[in-house]
Amino acid sequence: MLASDFSHIEAEVKRAENSGADWLHMDVMDGHFVDNISFGPAFVAAVKKCTHLPLDVHLMISHPDHYFSRFVAHARNVTIHVEAKHDVASTLFNIRKHGCTVGLSFNPATPFERVIPFLNQIDLLLVMTVVPGFGGQSFMPETLSKVEAAAEFRSQHGLSYRIEVDGGINTQTAPQTVERGADTLVVGTFAFGANDMGAAIRSAREACAIST
Ligand code: ZN
Repeated sequence: MLASDFSHIEAEVKRAENSGADWLHMDVMDGHFVDNISFGPAFVAAVKKCTHLPLDVHLMISHPDHYFSRFVAHARNVTIHVEAKHDVASTLFNIRKHGCTVGLSFNPATPFERVIPFLNQIDLLLVMTVVPGFGGQSFMPETLSKVEAAAEFRSQHGLSYRIEVDGGINTQTAPQTVERGADTLVVGTFAFGANDMGAAIRSAREACAIST
C-alpha cells in the first residue's frame, strides 16, 4: 500500500481487491529504524475498514515490542525486524498471543544466520530485497542467495514458514525469487504504478507460474 495514492485510499484498496491481490502489505516506518515516515495504526485501521482482504503489516520500526499491540486488531500477520532493538523471541511470542500470525524480516546487510534462531517460531520470513525505507527501489540480486538459504533450511528442518520477498519485485525479478523458493511476493510500485493492475498482477503470477 506504500505505493498507493493515499488521497484515494478506499478506491486504491478496491483496485487491489478487484485486481486479484491476495493480501494487502502495509509498510509502517517510524523515521528512526528507516529514514522515512509512512503511516501508523490509524491509517492501517482505515484500510481495514475498506477491505475483507487480510492485512500483512510490516513494522519497520525500532520498538516493535512497544507498538505491535496498536496493530494486531487490524492485521492478519505482523512482521517485525530482527535488527530492531527488542527481545525478538518474546515479541514474536506476544504478537502470536493476540491471534496474528508472525513474520520476521531482515535487511540486505544482515546475514541469514541472524534469523536462524527464530525460524521455528515464525509463520513467515520476509527477505528484504532492497534496503528498506522507500518504495520504487531496484531489486538487489545479491539477496537471492538468502531466499535460497531460507528455502533450504525450511526443507532440512521440516518447517513451513512462508518466504516473502519485498522490494523491486516485477515480472523480471519475481521468477528469480520463486525459483529459489519464495512463495509470497510483495508488489508495490509494480502493481500500483500500472494502469491495469489486474494485468500487472496476472503477468507477475504467470511469469512465476503461480496459480491463483
Ligand atoms: Zn514491506
